[in-house]
This record gives sequence, C-alpha cells and structure tokens, in this order.
Amino acid sequence: MRLNGMMNKLSYLALLSATLFASYLFAHPTLEQAKELLKSEPTKALKLIQSVHYASLNSAEQIQYAHLYVSSHNLLGQYTGSKAWIEEYSLPETSDSQQMEELFDYSIRAAWAYEATQQYQHAMQWYRLAERYGVRLKDKEKQGYVYLQYSAVESLQGNQYQALKLANRAYILLTDSDDTEMVADLHSQLGILYYLNGDYEHAIRFQEQVLAQATQDNSLQEIAVAHYNLANAYYKWSKVEFSKDKLTTAAINYQQGLALAQKLETKYLQRNHLLGLISLYTYSESLDDAALRVRQLTQLNLDYSGYAKLSYHLVLASYSQAIEDIPSLLAHLDKAKEYYTQPSSSLPAYALDKQKDVAALYAAVGDHQQAFHWLDKYSTQAIGRYKSQTQQKVKELQSEIENKRLEIENRDLNNQAQTRLWVAAITLLILILSFGLLYHQRKRKQQFYQLSNTDFLTGLSNRRHIFEWGEAQFDRLKLSSIMLDIDHFKTLNDTYGHDFGDEVLKTVSSIVTKAARSADVVGRIGGEEFLILLPNVSRHQLSHLAEDIRQKIAQHRFTTPDHKEIQVTASFGITEHRSGSLSNQVNLADTALYNAKRSGRNRSVFSV
Ligand code: GH3
Ligand code: MG
Ligand code: MG
Repeated sequence: MRLNGMMNKLSYLALLSATLFASYLFAHPTLEQAKELLKSEPTKALKLIQSVHYASLNSAEQIQYAHLYVSSHNLLGQYTGSKAWIEEYSLPETSDSQQMEELFDYSIRAAWAYEATQQYQHAMQWYRLAERYGVRLKDKEKQGYVYLQYSAVESLQGNQYQALKLANRAYILLTDSDDTEMVADLHSQLGILYYLNGDYEHAIRFQEQVLAQATQDNSLQEIAVAHYNLANAYYKWSKVEFSKDKLTTAAINYQQGLALAQKLETKYLQRNHLLGLISLYTYSESLDDAALRVRQLTQLNLDYSGYAKLSYHLVLASYSQAIEDIPSLLAHLDKAKEYYTQPSSSLPAYALDKQKDVAALYAAVGDHQQAFHWLDKYSTQAIGRYKSQTQQKVKELQSEIENKRLEIENRDLNNQAQTRLWVAAITLLILILSFGLLYHQRKRKQQFYQLSNTDFLTGLSNRRHIFEWGEAQFDRLKLSSIMLDIDHFKTLNDTYGHDFGDEVLKTVSSIVTKAARSADVVGRIGGEEFLILLPNVSRHQLSHLAEDIRQKIAQHRFTTPDHKEIQVTASFGITEHRSGSLSNQVNLADTALYNAKRSGRNRSVFSV
C-alpha cells in the first residue's frame, strides 16, 4: 500500500533533514510569500512555488511546500494535480510540534482531494493519518475536526447511522472549543444527521442552535438555511405523528426562510423553500396555497439539473396528482425519470430512495407495471449497495488482521497462541458479518416480494399477482373462480365519502378472507371487484361458499361517518373448473356476474 511505501522513504528523509539542519533555522522567503498569496490568488501562489526546487528544500520546508502545492490545486479544483503530487512524494517523519501541525493540515487537504473525487477509502486513510497527528499533539480540537470529516464521508456514502455516531464523537471532543465556525458546522451536521436518522426532536434542537448562532452573527444566508432545515424536520415529524401543530411550524419556517431568500435574491434558496411549501400544502390538501407557490416557483424561471431537477419534478407530479391533472403528472414523471439515466452506483442514497416515490405515483395512476418496475429497480440497487458496503468492511477487517498479525509476530514470536486466537476471533467476526449480509438480503427480498404482490389498501393479493399465480397453478390445482363486485358502490362513495368507501373495501376484504378456506387465494382485481381462486372444489361447495360470503356481507352493519348503520351487498359470478386457461374462466365469471347485476344484484349466478 501507498502508506507502507511512504514509511520506507522516511528514514532517508530523516537523514536528509539532519544534513540540512543549518538551513532549517531560516524560513524560506519564497514559501512565505506563496503562503501569503494562497487565499486570495492560488494561481499566483502555485506559479511561485513551482519555481522552487523541491529536492533542495529541508524537511520543514518540504512539508510547507507540499501543503502549499496541494492547497492551491484544491482551491483551483485541480484534484488530479493534487493527487498526482500526493502519490509521487512522501513527507518526512517528525516530532516537532510545529511540523506536526503542518502535516495535520496537509493530511486534511490530501483527504479532501480524494473525497472530492469520490475516492472515499483513500480519503479515509489520510484522515486517519491526520487523526494520529491530532492525538500526538494532544489537540482535542483537531481530533474532533477529523471526526467531523469521518462523519461527512460516511454520510456521503449513505451510512447515516455510522455518520451520526462519528459526529457525536466529534461533539464530545469539541465541547470546549471556542472556534464558533467549526462548532456551528458541527451543529448543522448533527441536525441534518439526526433528521436523516428519523430523530426529528434532536434534529430540531441542533438546528435551533445553528439558527441562534446565525442570528447572533447576523448572517441572513445562514438564517435562511437554518429555517429550511428546521422546516424539513418539522414537516417530516408532523407526517410521522400526524400533528397539525408541527405542520404549521414547518410552514412558518419555510415562509420565514423564503422571505429572507427573496430579500437576498438567492434563487436556489427561494426554490428550495417553495418546493418545501408546495409539497407541504399538497400533503395537507391546501391546494389553493399550493397553487400560489407553484406560480411563484414558475416565475423564478429556473433551469433544473441533477438532484434539484428530480425533486422539482417529483414535487410537481404529486401536486398534479392532487389537482387531478394526469397529463401533467405523467409529463413530470417523465422528466423526473431522466435523472436515473446515470449509472446507479453514483447515485446518493437519498436519490435511490426517491425511486419509491416514482413507483407510488405510477401506482396512483393505475400503471402497476411501471410501479412494479421502479420498485424492482430500487430494491435491486439498495441490496447491491448494502452488499458492496459489507464487502468493504470485510476487506478493512482483513487488512486489520494482517497488520495485527505482523505486529504480533514482530513483537512476540513466542506467543503464537495469542496470534491464533486473534486470527480466529477476527475470522469469526468476518463470518458473522457475511451471514448478517445474507440474512439481511433474504429479508429484503422477502419484504420486497410481499410489497410488490400486495394491494396497498386491503393487503390482499393485487391483480397482477393473483393472475400470475392463477395462470401457473390453473391445471395443477384445478382452480375454480368466484368473482364479486360490491353493489352501488359509487353511490356509497358519493354519499358518505371516499374514505368511508375505503373502509367498506377493507371490511369486505376481511369478511371474504375469513369465510374462504385456507387454500383459497383472494385478490382485489379492480376498484370494488374481488376474485377468489379455489383449488379442487365441487360445484356444491362453490355455491355454498359464495352464498355464505354473500350473506355475511349483507348481514354486516357498516357505520357511516354520520353514525348511521347501513347494509352493503355484493353480486357474485361463479365458474367451475374446466381445462383451459384462467383468463377464459374469469371472463365467464365476469359474464355471470353481469347477469347477477342485471337480475337484481345481491345474488350469485353460475356461468353456463
Ligand atoms: P354496480 O352495482 O353496477 O357495480 O355499481 P357501482 O356503483 O358499484 O359500479 P361502478 O363501476 O359504477 O362504480 C365503482 C366505483 O368504485 C367508482 C369508483 O369511484 C369507486 N372506486 C374504485 N376504486 C376505489 C377505491 O380504491 N376506493 C374507493 N373508495 N372507491 C373506489
Ligand atoms: Mg360495483
Ligand atoms: Mg365494478
């Protein structure tokens, strides 16, 4: 590994530094100049140090040089340049605290170059090195700062729980710090991580501290951002707890943030707050308010790309669904989907999750095939990601074993039993981890399988699933069909509301499921239409079962929202097994059902 190579060069460099001890006492004028220039004009700083011959510098100067080289490249966004340098040169070992401070800074900047180019494992190696300097310097602030970086790397890779644990370590290390800027960063990071981990109460507590600090600093931009983060946390929390108060607080925070963003004329901040408000008003069915915010958003006249484009189109698709503008919903879905043409491995975790929203929107317009497709995509990617994360952990553990083994062999050749114990313990850990992965994967698959086969409202098999299953088992199980449709359901919906209609659907589902035999499969195949597939059943049993279900539905008393007790009935079409296909049989049952309706409803009719 690169770090080992570096160690080999260190002894040579230590020697070099001793020979150059005389010049070590004097600061290098060009480097001093470049340091001055770095913040304001990195291009000039870079030019200046490139005129210096690196090999002729003493070790203290080499560290300074490296720091300047990498910092200026980073500032110019030239991470490839930084990385080329980092990989070519190694730096002297030192016990001088001034030099260790410089090496700390250098390691952090080296890590940034890798972090910015998504090479997180390399970034972590450099952060670990920085941490070691922090420890040797007994500098808690530096260590806390490194933990904050660890946390950010984990979060970028979608490991929000791990990220939160690390940010909390940073919090402990930084309690006494009076670097207000760093502490504000930490609070903001903790706020966001608690939010991502579903702990909205803590998220809000930290964002309020960020808000207080930003108010004290009179930084309008940061105040607006804090309002946005607070609003998001209250909004999510209100959804979990069905709390109106929290929803109102969320709306107020979005509005306050929006007002500031308008004053600052920062369009992207206005956009974020407006999208928040549209989503919130759509959710709370305040469609006039939502419409107003949609108009404001349109007036911003922004071009969207990347994740912003995705969330913009998803929010507007939901809004279109709420105002029943299906063409617009579909247009927004098409646009949202464009985001997912990039390779899924480069998607952040929160963008992977949004595929579930795409699926839900397709389900809402009744396109179950697309809904299934998007859920399937989501599930495959989520499992893939979990797998590669675990493999990475296993690799890290393996290299830890190797290091430990070498360490022990060198230190204590006699004590081989201990070595074996170590290897055994860590091997066991790897095994446990791998089994954990398999188990988790299996469970995910099962959950997904269930989800994609289930009707959301009633928990019965959905149309796709019952037909797929029925076609496959049709001849082997000699399936017969009972189809039923609730009578005058539209009137019921119109009189007592859609929610009551949903309740009736759920109750009828449970009556049917209870009355059916354990081998029968019940599915919801349309709005208020159900199909029962019955294996190996006689004509007599069939009519007996249908009659039983019909009576149980008719006898049940449904309580309406205005506390009246009413009766609901259903009509039945029955077809006995004959060889052929399920779809033919269901067509016959459908015709029989139509006849049952025509001859007065609340009855069952056998197909001829
Ligand atoms: P009939 O006796 O002839 O079957 O009359 P009907 O009113 O039951 O039949 P129609 O097909 O005209 O109406 C079905 C209604 O079911 C229309 C639709 O609004 C409603 N519906 C469909 N899916 C759902 C649902 O998921 N929930 C609720 N509440 N209603 C639904
Ligand atoms: Mg009906
Ligand atoms: Mg119907």
